[in-house]
Amino acid sequence: MIQEAGHEGPGCGTCQDFDLAEEEAESRGDPSGAVDWRVLRRRHQQAEHPGGEDG
Ligand SMILES: [Zn+2]
Repeated sequence: MIQEAGHEGPGCGTCQDFDLAEEEAESRGDPSGAVDWRVLRRRHQQAEHPGGEDG
């Protein structure tokens, strides 16, 4: 696993981690878990990538 300080919008490893976790939760039939990850990712984005244009 690559761990970099998230200082950029695209290509942020933390964002990708959250994306992967969300996809994994969905693929294993856990939509509420996927929503959980999505919320965490949004919080991370607001903290690390303020003003991002990623909806
Ligand atoms: Zn990020």
